Amino acid sequence: MDISRREFVQCAAGAAALGLGANAAVASQEEPRVKLRPAGKSVVIASANGQGACARAMEILQAGGDPVDAAVEGVSLVENDPNDHSVGYGGLPNENGVVELDACVMHGPTHKGGGVAALQRVKNASQVARLVMRRTDHVLLVGDGALQFARAHGFKEEELLTDKARQIWLKWKESHSGKDDWIHIEADVEARRRMERDGIEFTHGTISCMALTAGGDLGGCTTTSGLSYKIPGRVGDSPILGAGLFVDNEVGACGSTGRGEANLINCSSFLVVELMRNGQSPSDACLTALKRVADRTESRLRDEHSYPNYQLKLYAVRKDGVVGGAVMRGKGRMAVHDEGGFRLDELRGVFPPLPDQER
Ligand code: ASP
Repeated sequence: MDISRREFVQCAAGAAALGLGANAAVASQEEPRVKLRPAGKSVVIASANGQGACARAMEILQAGGDPVDAAVEGVSLVENDPNDHSVGYGGLPNENGVVELDACVMHGPTHKGGGVAALQRVKNASQVARLVMRRTDHVLLVGDGALQFARAHGFKEEELLTDKARQIWLKWKESHSGKDDWIHIEADVEARRRMERDGIEFTHGTISCMALTAGGDLGGCTTTSGLSYKIPGRVGDSPILGAGLFVDNEVGACGSTGRGEANLINCSSFLVVELMRNGQSPSDACLTALKRVADRTESRLRDEHSYPNYQLKLYAVRKDGVVGGAVMRGKGRMAVHDEGGFRLDELRGVFPPLPDQER
């Protein structure tokens, strides 16, 4: 919430008159506008590829487990799946054919987080991120340092590029139509669509999973192999707290998938949590945040209607168990598992579908 210096001084003076001290004045500004009480039920949400992850996470919550453990054990199933080309083992590689993973976790009760970025050769980036949170005084480890840390904790090293992913990458490489991540190619959107029509796969994927215990404690994890064919060393939003994931135990949690660059420069997950703190529902908060991202989108990334020409999806759960999300273009889906079982919720889009998107 915005507070001017003048308001702050007035507020602090009022608090002092009440004998509360200036810190109390600051604290009162932090209170959620709506006091959110735990719903007394466990809830897990995830991106649409998270059906199995949600079920696993729910088992852990129902056994009394920690919400970060629930989310991490859930997403590990997807990291281990060679058929998901956007996460972990079998993920599409960077432009040099090397798989580099990004992940983060955040734990509501302790307000701690951990992440790894550009991690090679270890498929469960989420588990390494959890160890960064639990076993170091740091928040983010990258590249070779992240690999050394994983190695020290006994993670198995392996080639993460499967034959299938290598063939997809090779097809992209052989096409050499000018689609890469260097910004000087202005016609890259059309080139990319042409390649998609020619059957070259680009991943728009990631799994983001958030768990809420019956007692109202929150935890989450986002993990990905990132943008397919990215420039080596590129780090997306997924391992960055406030962008790919944010958890505040008083309010709720938000995770994201889609164009990480748009998310990184808008801290959308943090924004969604703040909007929920100020009383917005999860769906409204996600829509508001996406509209802000859209307003700040540079012209290079807008279509002929001036709509953002990329997808970005936000998923949120509030401390009281209310869930919601929104997508930038067309419609989307969110995996939800609560005491009523599993379902896929439809998410509203801010703008009409992208040309090649399913309507
Ligand atoms: N957000 C991921 C990234 O930018 C990719 C995705 O979800 O499509 O790395």
